[in-house]
Amino acid sequence: MRPGIKKGEGDMKKNSLIIVIVLSFVLVVSGAGLSVAEKTRFYTIGTGGVTGVYYPTGGAISRIVNAKKQEFNMRLTVESTGGSVYNVNAIMSGDLDFGIVQSDRQFQAIRGLAEWKDKGAQKDLKAVFSIHPESVTLLAGNDTGIKSIKDLKGKHVNIGNPGSGQRQNSIDALTSVGINYKVDVKAEGLKASEAPGVLLDGRIDAFFYTVGHPSGAFKEATAGTRKVRFVPIVLDDSFYLNFPYYARSVVPMSFYPSAVNDKDVPTFGVKATFVTHSRIPDEDVYNVVKEIFVNFENFKKLHPAYSVLTKESMLSGLSAPLHPGAVKYYKEAGLL
Ligand code: GLU
Repeated sequence: MRPGIKKGEGDMKKNSLIIVIVLSFVLVVSGAGLSVAEKTRFYTIGTGGVTGVYYPTGGAISRIVNAKKQEFNMRLTVESTGGSVYNVNAIMSGDLDFGIVQSDRQFQAIRGLAEWKDKGAQKDLKAVFSIHPESVTLLAGNDTGIKSIKDLKGKHVNIGNPGSGQRQNSIDALTSVGINYKVDVKAEGLKASEAPGVLLDGRIDAFFYTVGHPSGAFKEATAGTRKVRFVPIVLDDSFYLNFPYYARSVVPMSFYPSAVNDKDVPTFGVKATFVTHSRIPDEDVYNVVKEIFVNFENFKKLHPAYSVLTKESMLSGLSAPLHPGAVKYYKEAGLL
């Protein structure tokens, strides 16, 4: 009997030991799991329509940074949005963490101008880097006879959705040639992703889109049966003095061989910029910037619109103060 009792006690002790070991293992594993889950930061990048360049740019940035997602405990995702103005507002409200925004819109938001006149200066908006150049691009049905921006008078024109960057660019261009967008044209507020289809159907005469080239939107708009023309927007020096954030630019026709144009088209433009909010931790912004700059040559290969980029150009065209995490990297890399 004694040996039996002893054996039973021994088994119980052994069993309790096993239970304790298993329980500790479960606790350690689930605890570790929990701490990893707690530490992973998910950040959403606001872009633009899927046929623009912002959307693939958000994808390019995420692809490079997410290669180190385990190491950084951070994961970037991309959202298609209505464009620059929407992105600034959503970053400010916390719905987005990063965003791509036209340089002119960044300039206005940080100073409380244009769409931010009532809300005031968006002081927590922080610049991260500049990206590709964007041109204010005007495309018209060839059958409309529109050959200059002045010919838009009396026409049916998409100037861009509220929330887009291009809407104000269209208005500035029209105003500068004496066209009041409220009375002299039939202005539509369609999204850039919808405009090519509507132009090809003959439901509008022309549309504006401020975008990098090449873009899916203009590939689509030049690939239909309706012949289309890129319309030059040639403005005098006073325009550039009035609007310091605009610069002369050109739309290369090599990207759109089906357009009726036979040479590159002069217009004006801005830059796409990458912005965030001061609440995003320095370490995370530092890691984003560092990965893009360390993998700069790979990044440049991800879209033909990046072919003109240099590391130095990525620090110009920014009007909001740089995020401290970006400053840390630029100082380290000798770029500041
Ligand atoms: N520039 C446009 C905007 O801010 C977006 C262009 C794009 O998606 O590439 O609304």
